[in-house]
Amino acid sequence: MQGIHIFTFKGIPVSFQPMFIVLILILSVGIGGVAESFIFAICLILGVLIHEFGHALVAQRYHLNPEIVLHFMGGITKYPRSAGPKQDFWITLAGPLAGLIVGGIAYGILHVLELYVLQAGQPVPYYCVFIYYLSMVNLFWGVFNLIPAIPMDGSKVLNHIIARFCKNPQTALKISASISIVFVLLIMAWSIWQQSVWMIIISVFFIMANIQVAREAFSGGSSKSLKNLERVSLEAEKAYERGLIAARDHQWTVLERCGHQMKRAASDKDQLERAYEFLTIACTNLKKYDEALKYSEHARQSDAVCQAVNRCRSLL
Ligand SMILES: [Zn+2]
Repeated sequence: MQGIHIFTFKGIPVSFQPMFIVLILILSVGIGGVAESFIFAICLILGVLIHEFGHALVAQRYHLNPEIVLHFMGGITKYPRSAGPKQDFWITLAGPLAGLIVGGIAYGILHVLELYVLQAGQPVPYYCVFIYYLSMVNLFWGVFNLIPAIPMDGSKVLNHIIARFCKNPQTALKISASISIVFVLLIMAWSIWQQSVWMIIISVFFIMANIQVAREAFSGGSSKSLKNLERVSLEAEKAYERGLIAARDHQWTVLERCGHQMKRAASDKDQLERAYEFLTIACTNLKKYDEALKYSEHARQSDAVCQAVNRCRSLL
């Protein structure tokens, strides 16, 4: 999913697809006068951004190189490699939490303003309208995303919680897919009752996504949803987390040990490439240049690996 780049914040690039503007226009035009609709549109954009940055900043903490794309259903935070189960849980939860925190603070400010500004009988100032919509949009978006229906964040969170208790990821996916279908049908019914064309269109997409996941869950094949729950890679991910701390503290022997542990426990190519990345960086700093160059052939080609390779070649 590609988009037009708008800005980069804290190293996280944000881009949008033209349909995002259509979404904002459909939802905001006619809310009130021109000024009120404009303020509402700004709050909608901020609401989506706050939610996505909730996901992205936590993903950034796990060194996943996230990027944000705004699209016709809101936004998405993407990262090139998959996160471990624990990481995925916190990244997912952080989106709705960010919205609920900002919305809650804005709601609190609004109450204080109501006491001192709005009771004066004057026309409502625009900044109060802004704070009102900022709180409403963020609270709504946070709660809505916590509904346990695919593809919402709530469904992923529920997936992880069930997987913790029932041990078998496939069974967990079956249970959460069944719960999701109930909720998605409720969303569809609510959309029809509200006569919201946009929500009905979105519900159809939700139902399609649900059919796909339900098929994966009950057919027994491997799926992306299932991959997020798999536990085989957990040991390697734990070694990776320890390695990141060691790298930050320049403890190269510890980093080398974490690299070897990760290499042994790796369950996929991505983990293996990250293990070799650790080994390349550690060996370079431990002056084992030949060994570092050998590891670098299998390592993820990050900036740190390229720098290490250049250093080895210049010193050999
Ligand atoms: Zn989200």
